[in-house]
Amino acid sequence: MDSTLQMELDLWKRQGLERKLRRTDESSGCHVRMDGRTVLSLGSNNYLGLADDPEVRATAAAALDRLGLGAGGSRLTTGNYPEHEELEALIADWKGTADAVLFDSGYAANTGVIPALAGPYDLILSDQLNHASLIDGCRLSRAHIRVYRHGDVESARSMLYDREQFQRCLVVTDGVFSMDGDLAPLPALCDFAEANDAWLVVDDAHGTGVLGPHGAGTEAHLGVAERIPVRIGTLSKAVGASGGFVAGSRPLCEFLRHRARSFVFSTAMPPAVAAGAIAGVKIVRGADDRRQRLQHAAMEIRRLFQEHGYTVPEGCTAIIPVLVGEADAAVRLSNALLELDVFIPAIRYPAVPAGQARLRVTASAALTDADLDWLKKALSHVPRK
Ligand SMILES: *Cc1c(COP(=O)(O)O)cnc(C)c1O
Repeated sequence: MDSTLQMELDLWKRQGLERKLRRTDESSGCHVRMDGRTVLSLGSNNYLGLADDPEVRATAAAALDRLGLGAGGSRLTTGNYPEHEELEALIADWKGTADAVLFDSGYAANTGVIPALAGPYDLILSDQLNHASLIDGCRLSRAHIRVYRHGDVESARSMLYDREQFQRCLVVTDGVFSMDGDLAPLPALCDFAEANDAWLVVDDAHGTGVLGPHGAGTEAHLGVAERIPVRIGTLSKAVGASGGFVAGSRPLCEFLRHRARSFVFSTAMPPAVAAGAIAGVKIVRGADDRRQRLQHAAMEIRRLFQEHGYTVPEGCTAIIPVLVGEADAAVRLSNALLELDVFIPAIRYPAVPAGQARLRVTASAALTDADLDWLKKALSHVPRK
């Protein structure tokens, strides 16, 4: 076995796809001690700087002290704590839905929800650039899957010529696409789904806390929140905690508590994490100042890389793709910046299509003007594109 696996690994390495785990020893805002050096990190999804927020920490620590670490069981057995229920009610209130269900992660939400809602007699239309966890959820469902061109409702429509062959139809999309930072055309997707008796499933991992009034997400930003029946999100990005959720109607959430396998057959999120996430969500809802700061930092970062000759698509989210092309060129640029104490991960196949390697820069409200100067100075020391 080992020699076979080693050969496959070597093949990946020869294609510039070797991965190394860098170790984060401690972090404060966007400054991270990594492999023994303090670097400016522009690669985290801690968009609002809440992961080390004093109130979030104190709330989680107090709950940890009181309750211990592990939940000890599934929510359906012995693992259901008041913290979980309070967090679900808070998320539902934030998103404007009747109910919400927690999962251990966004990944667990997607791989639980889609197979619960669709099966072998159903059809799923899935955006070409959907997150891997949505793709895995679709595959696990054993439904018939058709992948439409990125953001292209007409492409989706062309795949629905035999709608009557299937029982249910799900249309599945990211809200903010995780590698490009662009938005799904949600209003047109709502029209399309409603006209074709399809259920729209939106994973807004990167819009939650970042876009829309009170950070309620891409659906709220685009004014279609009430029209989307299945709204998935994560607590591990802007909220600065960990965990995933689905917000929707009471029947949907009750159904998921019975039928989503990653909910039923997995230990509940540690109640102290739920307590921390409660504090996080409360802060996020009122954090317009942080969202403004985030927008400002994202604009500045876009401008700096554009001035340096790189192609950076316009956008309104915290995800800024700096397009490089070949995997080794992206890795070289990432390494050169790291030498200058700026960490930006190179994103390669299979996270993005081959030949579309990039630096994926993420902005954060925790970035100070001095941090942005730091980036500017580092860029002046690497070759222009
Ligand atoms: C990060 C991400 C997830 C996974 O969320 P976790 O809580 O990290 O498991 C799911 N969907 C999208 C679009 C993401 O970007």
